[in-house]
Amino acid sequence: MQQKKSFNWGPALFIIIYHVLLLIGLPFYFYYNTPSTAVVVSSIILLYVTGLSITGGYHRFYSHRSYRTNKIVEGVLLFFGSMAAQGSALRWSFDHRIHHANVDTDDDPYSIKKGFWYAHCLWILEKPRTIDPKVVPDLLKNNLVMFQHNYYKFCMIGSNAITTVLFGWLLNDYLGAFVIVLWLRLFVLHHFTWFINSLAHTWGDKPFSQELSAVDNYFLSMLTFGEGYHNYHHTFANDYRNGVRWFHFDPTKWMIWTLSKLGLATNLKRMDPATIEKRIVLETKDLLLTQLTETCVAKKEELEKIIIEMSERIVSKIAQFNELKAQYIQTKKENNCRSIILELQKELKEVKKSLRHDWQAWMSLAKDIKQLRLQPS
Ligand SMILES: [Zn+2]
Ligand SMILES: [Zn+2]
Repeated sequence: MQQKKSFNWGPALFIIIYHVLLLIGLPFYFYYNTPSTAVVVSSIILLYVTGLSITGGYHRFYSHRSYRTNKIVEGVLLFFGSMAAQGSALRWSFDHRIHHANVDTDDDPYSIKKGFWYAHCLWILEKPRTIDPKVVPDLLKNNLVMFQHNYYKFCMIGSNAITTVLFGWLLNDYLGAFVIVLWLRLFVLHHFTWFINSLAHTWGDKPFSQELSAVDNYFLSMLTFGEGYHNYHHTFANDYRNGVRWFHFDPTKWMIWTLSKLGLATNLKRMDPATIEKRIVLETKDLLLTQLTETCVAKKEELEKIIIEMSERIVSKIAQFNELKAQYIQTKKENNCRSIILELQKELKEVKKSLRHDWQAWMSLAKDIKQLRLQPS
C-alpha cells in the first residue's frame, strides 16, 4: 500500500549538500593539487570494496538470499555496506524486495514509469515507507542487521571517518583522502549504484522477459559491479549470478564464487541452464512472431509454422532433458545397477547434443528473420 509522500530531510540534505560542495570544491582541489597515484588507486579499491558490499551483500545476500555465509563475512559486508552511505541493509533490502514484487507499478519505490531521474535518485528525496515486517521477517531476526539498522548513522559516519583518517595517514595526504577517497569515491559509487534503477531499466536488451522494463546491458555491468544484466536478474532473481555466462562481466558473481571456494559461502543458488534456455526460446518465439507480422515477406504463414514447430520441439526436448537428468540423479543416489547409470548417461548426452543442434538452428532462424525485418519492403 502506498503512503503519502513528504520530504526525506536527512538523506536528501546529505546528498544535495555533498553534491554542491563537491561541485564547488573539486575544481579548487585540482587547481592546487595533483592527487598521487596511491590516492587514485586507493579510491578505486575502496570504490570496489564498498560497491561489492552493496551488490554482493545488501543485494544478492540480504535481499535475495542467493547464498549463505557466516557472521564474520556478514560483519565485513555490513561495515563496508555502511561506508557506501545507501541506508541500512534492512531498509535497502525492504525497498528492493518491494521493487521486485511491484516492478513498473505505482508501488515500486523507484519505478522507472515515474521518469528516469525519479528512478535514478529523486525517489530518495521522498519520505520512505514504513518497513513492513512481513516483507523482511528473516532480516528482523538477524542481530547484525538489526544492530547496523539501529545504529546506522553511527556505523555510516564511523566507518567512513575511520577509513578516511587511516588512508590519510597511510598515504600521508589527509586532504586527498578527504576529497578523493571519501567524497569523490562516494559520488561515483552512488551514481554507479543508482544506474541500476535508472539505466538498467531503460537502455539494453530483453532476452528473458519482454514485458519488464529491466534490460541487459554489457557496458552497464562494468559500471555496476556486474548488475547490468538486469533483465536476467528480474526474471531469475534468486540466482547468485546476474551475468549468467562465464564471459559476462560480473565481479559480484566472481566474489561470491571465490568466497565459496574459500569455504566462506555455501548454498549458491543457480538457475539450471535448460530452464534459462527454455525461457529465451519462449521469449524469442513471441518476439519473432510479432516481428513477422510487421514484415512484408512472402510465405509468412510458412515461417510462422516453422517458428512454432521449432520452439515447441526445443521446449519438449528441454523437458525430456530435465526428466532424464532427475532420473539419472535419483538412480545414482540409490546406487542402482551401473549399466542403467551408463545407459542414462548416454541418453542424456544424446539429448544434449540434439538440443545444441536445435539451439543453433533456432538462433540462425532468429537472425534471418531479424534481417528480413531490416530489409526495406
Ligand atoms: Zn530493477
Ligand atoms: Zn534484485
